[in-house]
Amino acid sequence: MNKNEILRQIPSVDTILNWPEITDYASNISNLYLADLVRKIVDEFRKKIGAGKDLKIADLKSDILNQLKELTEPYFCYAINGLGIILHTGLGRAPFARGIDNALFSVAQGYSRLQIDDEGRRADRYQKINLLLQILTGAEGGIIVNNNAGATLLILNELAKGREVIVSRGQLVEIGGSFRIPEIMAQSGAIMREVGTTNRTHLRDYESAINENTAAILRVHQSNYQIRGFTKEVSLTELIQLGKKYNLPVIDDLGSGALVDLSKYGLPKEPLIQESIKAGADIVCFSGDKLIGGPQCGIIIGRDKYIKAIKKNPLTRALRCDKLTNVALEATLRVFLLPEQEIVKEHTVFKIILKPLNLIKKQAARCARILKKKFGKRLEARVRSDFSETGGGSLSTEQLPTYIVAVRVKKISVSQLARRLRRYRVPVFGRISEDEYILDFRTILPGEEKIIIKAFEEILGNE
Ligand SMILES: *Cc1c(COP(=O)(O)O)cnc(C)c1O
Repeated sequence: MNKNEILRQIPSVDTILNWPEITDYASNISNLYLADLVRKIVDEFRKKIGAGKDLKIADLKSDILNQLKELTEPYFCYAINGLGIILHTGLGRAPFARGIDNALFSVAQGYSRLQIDDEGRRADRYQKINLLLQILTGAEGGIIVNNNAGATLLILNELAKGREVIVSRGQLVEIGGSFRIPEIMAQSGAIMREVGTTNRTHLRDYESAINENTAAILRVHQSNYQIRGFTKEVSLTELIQLGKKYNLPVIDDLGSGALVDLSKYGLPKEPLIQESIKAGADIVCFSGDKLIGGPQCGIIIGRDKYIKAIKKNPLTRALRCDKLTNVALEATLRVFLLPEQEIVKEHTVFKIILKPLNLIKKQAARCARILKKKFGKRLEARVRSDFSETGGGSLSTEQLPTYIVAVRVKKISVSQLARRLRRYRVPVFGRISEDEYILDFRTILPGEEKIIIKAFEEILGNE
């Protein structure tokens, strides 16, 4: 069919609005927006035809229906992580601990208690989180802000605006998503005073950089990289002694930080938050959604005088967390009040990190067996050992052993399979490796294999 014929065939916007598939959407979207949207898509379609694209009226229809579907269906939703990266920013970083769903549901019912006391007076919204942080970390006080990048910005702005902060060249980290120490430092108004070299920094390097304009010493955890070979780092304890000698606060940016020592379970040691406080760090900050396993936020703890000063900083208001963050973090921190053997049962991130290999293997084997049984010769599914990652700059570069199911489907390509699974009602995310579709069963939660099988059934139904 030629260009002009197709152009003549394009129905009017009013006609399109009466297509039964379109009127189905009438209860979800006002005609006001619907008509504009259809008009816009029709215009784009005309332009494409004008540019010589070979399209049919059926393509116009599917363009409109796809856009309506995208607009009216939720994008933020429960999804399955078959990628094997435990803290995956694209998948919401930390999966919440047990019980947080109820806490979130409770505040979603109507109004909620956020910053009002038993006498009906305006209260401090940080009070409860502060109490939990005091108990769990031993710090004099605590406060939360939007994320750890915000926490670092705020701390540096409050303690060191217009003055110097000493930091080792080995700790000038960049975290994915454009968090870079030198840039945060510049934004905060503090002046970065780099000392040492990439691989070696000595105590004397810090000491000789101290002058009358020095405001603080900063230590940053090398979250997502390691420096190996001929290296030297100054310990936190030594930095604290130096800080005491010159009356300078020591700031410890832990990145992830941990409240439970995972080295007891044979994993590498992530710095413990309570150990930084015990060692005498004046201010410690870390993320709420890395190993803490809560909502996105930046947690700042430390000496009362600094927390009080930070609360008065105008940036604190700009970086303030809302009720959803507060309720989710409160519920997460309450999990850490439990005895440790209970924490590792309730806390989803720890459960995934400590998931026994034989359990992973069993879950993977079950999934592969059912897929093979259901699809026979149409599909191949093999169980293999592999490695998962912690991600999110925690436990650094550690790889955790795991089991995967590698799938190959006869009729469709791996990329098509992956795409269809991503677009399933419960989106399933797996990775593609050469000509195989890979699902890592460390991050697939118990019972989710049933959803995956259902997804395969619906997706491959008639292939
Ligand atoms: C992850 C990380 C940050 C940034 O934390 P967000 O909560 O993602 O903003 C800052 N510093 C270090 C050392 C980190 O590892």
